[in-house]
Order: sequence, then C-alpha cells, then structure tokens
Amino acid sequence: MICDFHTHSNVSDGSLSPRELVESAGREGVQVLALTDHDDVSGVPIAREVGRGLGIEILSGVEISVSEDDGARQMHVLGLGFDPDHPALVDSLSRIRMRREARVREMLSRLADAGVELPAESLETCGAVGRPHVARALVAAGACTSIQDAFVRYLRRGRPGYVPSAGVPARTAIELIQAAGGIACLAHPPLSAGVDQPGGLETFVERLVRLGLDGLEVWHPGHRSSQTKKLRRLARQFDLVQTGGSDFHGDVKPDIRLGRGRGGLKVGSAVYRAICARIRTRAQSGD
Ligand code: AMP
Ligand code: ZN
Ligand code: FE
Ligand code: FE
Repeated sequence: MICDFHTHSNVSDGSLSPRELVESAGREGVQVLALTDHDDVSGVPIAREVGRGLGIEILSGVEISVSEDDGARQMHVLGLGFDPDHPALVDSLSRIRMRREARVREMLSRLADAGVELPAESLETCGAVGRPHVARALVAAGACTSIQDAFVRYLRRGRPGYVPSAGVPARTAIELIQAAGGIACLAHPPLSAGVDQPGGLETFVERLVRLGLDGLEVWHPGHRSSQTKKLRRLARQFDLVQTGGSDFHGDVKPDIRLGRGRGGLKVGSAVYRAICARIRTRAQSGD
C-alpha cells in the first residue's frame, strides 16, 4: 500500500488543484492521501469527492504555521483526521491567512527597498499566500532564474525579502486541531527554526509533547536516514505516532513525486493503521 500524509495543492503553494492532485495520486498508485495545505482546509471537500470516485482514501489535513519568540522558533504542525468544518479551526485559519497577506505585502516592500519592484497584481491569488508565490513572481519578472534562485537570493532567512512566518503559538495549533477531532504532528522536525538550541531536537519535541503533541513526521524527503532513525527513537520514547509524506508541491519542487518523494519514501499500511488508531483514541478521549 502506498500512502502519502503530506501534500500541497494550489489552495496554498502547490501548483496542482485539489482535483488534479488526487487524480495524479491515482495515477501514481497512491491509495491513501492527506491533503495538507498551509493554513487552509478548503481543498479537503473536493479532494474527498474526487477520491471517492477513484477509490482513494482521503484524510483531512492541514499544515499550520507556528511562530514563537518573534520567529526565533518556527515550525509546521500537521493536523490529520479532523472535521474540516469545525468553526474555531476554520475561523483561526482565516485569521492566519490574513496575516500571511500582510506578510507578503511587507515582503514586496522589502524587495522594493532592495531594488526589485514587483506589483502586487503579479502574485497569483490563492487561499494561503506565501514565499513560493513571491518566488514565482520573481521568476516571472525576470529577476530570478528559478524558484530555488529566488529563495537563495531573496527569500531565505537572512536575505533581503525575508519576513518571519505569520504563525500562531504551538499550543494554539495543537489545540485547534484536537478540538476539531484530529491529531497534531510535528512536520519535518529537523527543518524547524530553533531546533539547534541547547538540547536540540529532543528538548524541542519534549516541550511539544507537554502541549499535547500526538505525532512526529518521521519520513520526509528532507530528512537524512540518520535523522529518520533518531525521530523513530524519539517517537517511541514519547509515545508519539509516526507519520510521513512527500511534501509534494507540484512544480515548486519538481524532483518530488507523490507517494515516493525523491524515490526512497515508503509510507505503508502500518503507518496508516497507527494514524487511524490515534485519531480514534483522540475522538474517544473527547478533547
Ligand atoms: P512560507 O510558509 O510562506 O514561509 O513558505 C514556506 C514554503 O516555501 C515551504 O512550505 C516550501 O514549500 C517552500 N520553500 C521553502 N524553502 C524553499 C526552497 N529553498 N525552494 C523551494 N521552495 C521552498
Ligand atoms: Zn509549502
Ligand atoms: Fe512544511
Ligand atoms: Fe508542507
């Protein structure tokens, strides 16, 4: 069985629509898929509908931006298996998206100060706007040769167009997902900002466990095999469910395939069963 619990559509910063994404997953032989757009769940109903037609199991998903200590600590929290119509979740995500829009306006103003003028109209509108949209606009304007070039020269932390993420505290992200009946997992833990603080990954994860974290993303194309091993050990130590996915974005990351990542990703039925069991436990505990 091929599963993928981390994917993005053009509701956030991927290039395929939710329908195209699920159809593409079908062609790749993916049987269970979570659509996990950044700070937006509006693609979930259509993904489910298309999935029903193709016999693909669709799990509701979201990747919530977390930012703490003025951006010194930043991470992505993946929610899986929640009610996508839950009012508090829908409302909070819409407020995060408004902050994303303000952040992108600030990025455009900083880029202008650095000598690169991008008209606001050059950004494709979508649910959750972010750096990949600015990167595409930089390429379209001829200021950069590729998305990668745009990140390296302008959009990474420390570069002239960088503005810290528009996220919520980790506690809020975890509570919102759980209140909507889902489980909260730390996405690609080693890629979080602030994990290199004293104590490293272990201390970082331990704090989130105290806030109620349910799981860790163990399999991700950005993880080295030594990191995956360490994450599996941490998951066992803290009784966390282990998840994984490709973080597919379509042509934003052209080397990543659904269900396969860069080729070595293997997320199968045992992972799916463990995730479902944890979602059921959450639902029974009623918080
Ligand atoms: P944002 O949430 O606006 O900060 O944008 C973060 C997103 O940008 C990530 O989810 C990735 O999809 C994308 N991203 C980050 N770094 C790079 C990079 N070096 N090249 C391409 N995409 C990137
Ligand atoms: Zn993204
Ligand atoms: Fe992420
Ligand atoms: Fe992602």
